[in-house]
Amino acid sequence: MTDQVTTYVQPHADRRDLLPQHPAYACTNCGHWQRWPSVPQVCPVCADVRNALPEDGFAFATTDEVDAQVTCSWGPTVCPGITEFRCEPRFGLDSRGWVLETDIGLVGFECAPWYDQAALDELRRRGGLQVLASSHVHGYGALWRVQEQLDPPVVAVGVRDLLWTKAFRVTWPADDVLELAPGLTMHRTGGHFDGHSVLHDSRRGVLFCGDSLKVDLGPSGEAVALSAHKAFHAQIPLSHGELREYRSVIAPLEFDTVFTPFEGATGITTGHVLRLVDRLLSGPPSAGPVPLDELQPA
Ligand SMILES: [Zn+2]
Ligand SMILES: [Zn+2]
Repeated sequence: MTDQVTTYVQPHADRRDLLPQHPAYACTNCGHWQRWPSVPQVCPVCADVRNALPEDGFAFATTDEVDAQVTCSWGPTVCPGITEFRCEPRFGLDSRGWVLETDIGLVGFECAPWYDQAALDELRRRGGLQVLASSHVHGYGALWRVQEQLDPPVVAVGVRDLLWTKAFRVTWPADDVLELAPGLTMHRTGGHFDGHSVLHDSRRGVLFCGDSLKVDLGPSGEAVALSAHKAFHAQIPLSHGELREYRSVIAPLEFDTVFTPFEGATGITTGHVLRLVDRLLSGPPSAGPVPLDELQPA
């Protein structure tokens, strides 16, 4: 059964009193935000097998320090109606916030590492967000700040990933399928993280694929290779069972453009991804990139 958010997005009680109240600290290695009574000792995302440990020990930045360090900007993407929010210089994993125009207003998927006052004002000027969602913890960025400042009626993350969401408040824990707006549906893929979810925009033919795919870009920003991994830094591949689950989720979704938490790339189709998965299933597990030339239709 598919849950639908759309019928439920209505004026809602402001429950920002329920949000975590401790000060927020960002890991300077990966950008993960924690709200904690005092400066944290360890970043749980860096400590996880899927990330690299900081070379010189853990360090954390306060909101004022991050605000002084980065400037936010925004602009169009390869797809009309989808805006990118980003920070310069890069901070943490350098994730992007994708903001989509939909029938119910703006939907945010993934977040930039920080939102300064200008970025928040821009989102307010556009009417705020009706829904804010993310694929998994590597795409959360400063999601907590967007919730605190803009109070979107729905904040959705895969229920199996709730353990990574302590800096904010998930109002709609997502099961396997959740329709966020007409033509816009989250699907749990698992694999990279148990609750990892992709967002399919069927009207635009776009898959917000989270880290289910890594896209290698060429000098002109064109997609040249694809890979799939459990842990990118350590090059740990997905298991064959995880790949079969990816395949069953992605096969019915039609797209020709993908947006990871870090970039958008046109010319990557459902067929390319299925041929990648089939190739990875045909031999020992591998996290290595496969040239897009080798994933063309036979
Ligand atoms: Zn970290
Ligand atoms: Zn990831």
